[in-house]
Amino acid sequence: MSEPADANDPTRARLFVTAALDTGGDVALDARAAHYLTTVLRLKPGAEIAVFNGRDGEFAAKLVTARKRASALEIGAQRRAQPPEPDVWLLFAPVKRARIDLIAEKATELGVTRLCPVITRRTAVARVNLARLAAIAIEAAEQCERLSVPTVDPPLPLETVLARWPAGRTLLVGDEAGGGRPLGAALADLKPGPWALLVGPEGGFAEAELDALRRFQFVTPVGLGPRVLRADTAVTAALAVVQCLIGDWGHPPRS
Ligand code: SAH
Repeated sequence: MSEPADANDPTRARLFVTAALDTGGDVALDARAAHYLTTVLRLKPGAEIAVFNGRDGEFAAKLVTARKRASALEIGAQRRAQPPEPDVWLLFAPVKRARIDLIAEKATELGVTRLCPVITRRTAVARVNLARLAAIAIEAAEQCERLSVPTVDPPLPLETVLARWPAGRTLLVGDEAGGGRPLGAALADLKPGPWALLVGPEGGFAEAELDALRRFQFVTPVGLGPRVLRADTAVTAALAVVQCLIGDWGHPPRS
């Protein structure tokens, strides 16, 4: 749940719900949402917020009961239709907590639709808290006024992900060893179609992994400048450049 941009203006609060949204309908709130609206924001019955579910667009919604355990929203007019969005995947090696949280948050703000943790040889983090990543993605979507929330996949070994790679999707791989073309130049020559970004763990990719990656037709190794970036910086910087040059920062978006 996101803090409204102006903390004194709770009417700007946005809430992600899973229920279907339709004018005139009611949505029961789970304990977390009820606590947020009634205790954190101290909203009273009659207060207006916005809701979205990733499918039906954004609706005005009125709090009709404000008890901690049994709050509900009455759905008002649709404010925004569900916009089409490019299908962008981020593959990332799990890193330590603060940085993996940043990866989930920034990737959501930058339009990623699917977060895919991948286990590489030098991945040092054994357990990924998927529920936590999903909660961060929801909060980031609420805050950035996006009308969808990225899905969070269970972690898979890199080889498995590559073996199942769908036809037609380009995989941009952050190659810190200098084997890739500068990102901007590589994007200028990319064939049209959906894309994904892969960023390695703090220890980087093993040489054998990079060799294997480079052999796939769908892989485009890219360089992100002369400095070695932390994984979370590499994700944020690369996604910004790609969205700017071939993604939904431009008009029209590419895929
Ligand atoms: N091997 C490095 C650290 C890896 S940085 C070392 O310890 O020296 C983590 C990941 O960020 C890398 O695997 C790569 O995917 C990406 N990355 C960081 N800096 C990069 C750069 N300059 N160019 C391309 N990718 C980069």
